Amino acid sequence: MKIGLVGLGLIGGSLGLDLRSQGHSIVGISRQESTCKTALRKGIADQASTSFEALSEVELVIICTPIAAIAPTIKQIVPYLNSDTIITDVGSVKQPVVKECKPLWSNFIGGHPMAGTAESGIDAALPNLFTGAAYVFTPTPESKSEHVEKLKAIALQLNAIPYVCDAKVHDRAVSWISHLPVMVSASLIQVCLQEEPDTLQLAQILASSGFRDTSRVGGGNPELGVMMAKYNREELLRSLYNYRDNLDGIIDLIEGEQWQDLEEMLKINGEARPKFLFVRNS
Ligand code: NAP
Repeated sequence: MKIGLVGLGLIGGSLGLDLRSQGHSIVGISRQESTCKTALRKGIADQASTSFEALSEVELVIICTPIAAIAPTIKQIVPYLNSDTIITDVGSVKQPVVKECKPLWSNFIGGHPMAGTAESGIDAALPNLFTGAAYVFTPTPESKSEHVEKLKAIALQLNAIPYVCDAKVHDRAVSWISHLPVMVSASLIQVCLQEEPDTLQLAQILASSGFRDTSRVGGGNPELGVMMAKYNREELLRSLYNYRDNLDGIIDLIEGEQWQDLEEMLKINGEARPKFLFVRNS
């Protein structure tokens, strides 16, 4: 299949590497000549251009830009596409993207590969990034089933696990497992910084694997954190309010010295955790 990738960063570049290795012909579109050259040199694309005209014969376009640029990019590319071309995106939030993009192109189906790293740009592109990861598609009732099947087949070729769900359900689920953890982890770092200097310094010296694990996502890219909060605001607030209530419950248990109840809760959590880890999540 001839596939267009718009935005040759971490996700776009990684898709190019794996889709090319599966025999697809890749047209890479970047805003910069230098990125086009890198894409050809690294085997990310067969053809690379700064012009959307290069997309005129592709069967599928995958928009791999930041979320804010997805709809504006679709507006720019549609004059060059065949009417039966499928457009999908890789944005980490789906409801606002689908709402904005579906009216721009009836063959638009939202997508989100649940894989990534903390790096960005074409030099961060990796082969096999999507192996074992979930790849979510969020068609609407108007989407053609053969288009959904084509996208699921692409996900399988990436060795990812395709899932189809409603955009709202996706955003609610990723709020729990991706966006809430970022805010909780950020809050953990922030509250530690409020300790008086000598104790804080000792805490920083003593911090080991537990703190490394729990603070990792809160110490990541600030732009990504703001993007989650901005585009998934409603679901993130819902998760945060629930989390705050739950934390109050834990405080109550400790204040009331209800050690058995606390132990019971921790036991249930220990049993539940593996169920969140059966696919590799980003
Ligand atoms: P990235 O490495 O920064 O790549 C994004 C690329 O988009 C840039 O390299 C750039 O490519 C292009 N771009 C940037 N600003 C643009 C603009 N204003 N207009 C048009 N193009 C622009 O970021 P990424 O991590 O690949 O993320 C891309 C998308 O994947 C985002 O929507 C994100 O939500 C989603 N996602 C990310 C992860 C993750 O862990 N990073 C995981 C799943 C999904 P050119 O310079 O080639 O134009």
